Amino acid sequence: MAEKLTFTMIKPTAFKNNNTGAILKMINEAGFTIKAMKLTRLTPALAGEFYAIHKGKPFYDALVQFMSSGPIVAALLEKENAVEDYRTLIGATNPDNAAEGTIRKLYATSFQQNAVHGSDSDENANLEADFFFSKTERI
Ligand code: ADP
Ligand code: MG
Repeated sequence: MAEKLTFTMIKPTAFKNNNTGAILKMINEAGFTIKAMKLTRLTPALAGEFYAIHKGKPFYDALVQFMSSGPIVAALLEKENAVEDYRTLIGATNPDNAAEGTIRKLYATSFQQNAVHGSDSDENANLEADFFFSKTERI
């Protein structure tokens, strides 16, 4: 069942710009079911832990600062082939390279502030879901 799940965050700028509703609509219309969701705010320590895989990269410190700069929406999503299909829906990391009609193409404001996070593997989807959601917070 693991391959049916992916994890997303609506990043601070997209939340602040009131793009949450439009992004969730795209997610639902693409066939994903929401299995858990919360509005929350990361501390710098939690953002650093979430993105620990990128520690040491040139963009890491600024990314941690950005991701803890305001509220985010975290969600666990279900669909067949969830990880790959969600990466297709969101588009390339750099919005300049994102395909037309993707979430990042529509709502990113910069490379760093690229609207949403999406898991890159089934293993990370599960780790990321566990990072945010307890058993009782999932359906
Ligand atoms: P993705 O979010 O597509 O999986 P990565 O895991 O490589 O991309 O990077 C995590 C996040 O770090 C990106 O979504 C983006 O916000 C930021 N980021 C990555 N590379 C850069 C970069 N070269 N310049 C600015 N921000 C970056
Ligand atoms: Mg990534």
